[in-house]
Amino acid sequence: MKIYADNAATTAVSDTALAAMMPCLREFYGNPSSLHTPGQLAAERLAAARATFAKYLNADPKTITFTSGGSEADNQAIRSAAALGARKGKKHLISTKFEHHAVLHTLEALEKEGYAVTLLDIPEDGIVTAEQVKAAIRPDTCLVSVMFANNEIGTIQPVSQIGEVCHEAGVLFHTDAVQAAGHLSIDVEAMHIDLLSLSAHKFHGPKGVGVLYARRGIPLVNLIYGGAQERGRRAGTENLPGICGAAAAFEEACENMEAHAAYVTALRDRLMEGVMKIPHTALNGDPERRLPGNMNVCFEGIEGESLLLLLDGKGIAASSGSACTSGSLDPSHVLLALGRPHEVAHGSLRLSLSASNTQEEIDYILKELPDIVSYLRVISPVWDELERGQRPHLI
Ligand SMILES: *Cc1c(COP(=O)(O)O)cnc(C)c1O
Repeated sequence: MKIYADNAATTAVSDTALAAMMPCLREFYGNPSSLHTPGQLAAERLAAARATFAKYLNADPKTITFTSGGSEADNQAIRSAAALGARKGKKHLISTKFEHHAVLHTLEALEKEGYAVTLLDIPEDGIVTAEQVKAAIRPDTCLVSVMFANNEIGTIQPVSQIGEVCHEAGVLFHTDAVQAAGHLSIDVEAMHIDLLSLSAHKFHGPKGVGVLYARRGIPLVNLIYGGAQERGRRAGTENLPGICGAAAAFEEACENMEAHAAYVTALRDRLMEGVMKIPHTALNGDPERRLPGNMNVCFEGIEGESLLLLLDGKGIAASSGSACTSGSLDPSHVLLALGRPHEVAHGSLRLSLSASNTQEEIDYILKELPDIVSYLRVISPVWDELERGQRPHLI
């Protein structure tokens, strides 16, 4: 059996998205900036894609900028708010310890450029509170950036409440909604969101396409200089096939959101219930306030990397946290922020499901996983010490 359970890392392009991309590769290949008919046909498709994103975010199409992905959108959002703040003498930014590296590393770069950054601690349930945000806001704060849902543990943040706190204080609010878009409903007006990033490949669109929503009146700084595409906010000939695929995927995901969420949540709960029967296993993040497809646990006494390799050997594609940190030996910054000790954080497993997964696949995972965990524990010196009482069980 071949099972793909790493949908938080990336997803397969849907048939609908692919069907929307194909004509843009062969038929509507004009440059949207060209004045001739082929160019204008391409420009119409670009405008329609923009309108689709605007519709499902409850935004004006003029506020939608296409980028090369979630990382670029995060970089541009934060740099724009920082530049705007600096002009008013406000150089303090607030975010959290468990953001994606696209946010954290941008903030680190800004710190080197003379900005002050406060990273909020992560409560045990993996949900930052609006009170924490409120308490951290200073007179010189220009931006609060809190992700909509975490990419590793899937916990959903109280975005509306945080947005409200920010607006009461006159501070811009950015949310990295890459994991949420297409999976949870988003309304930039009702949720008081000023800047929002999303990425098509996390909701069955193609890779290399992102969206930055920026409320009217917020000037964006350029990361890429060149032509006047995207109203001068992002140079370079538009990736029309990718953008049309992204819009079709977003529409499909938003239209089917409730049905998919119900189906995937049921699969995930069945999976979670089975996995939690394995002794000395801890669930990471709130059991309910999390993305429908996300399960993230720590198994005591084993290494996540070995677990992934053995699962892969059984045809199961999973992750130990985020694709970005795999390959490094450091444990996940998200699990450490959650308060997991290093040795526990090392034994993490994330299974992230989509509507393409089936009950049979879940049953197969539940058949294979406990044996793999037991095997790894048998050969683990750490587990041996735990069993002999030479070190205390932490979970
Ligand atoms: C995947 C991801 C990103 C990066 O998006 P790319 O399109 O891969 O650049 C940013 N933030 C979060 C939360 C993500 O999950």
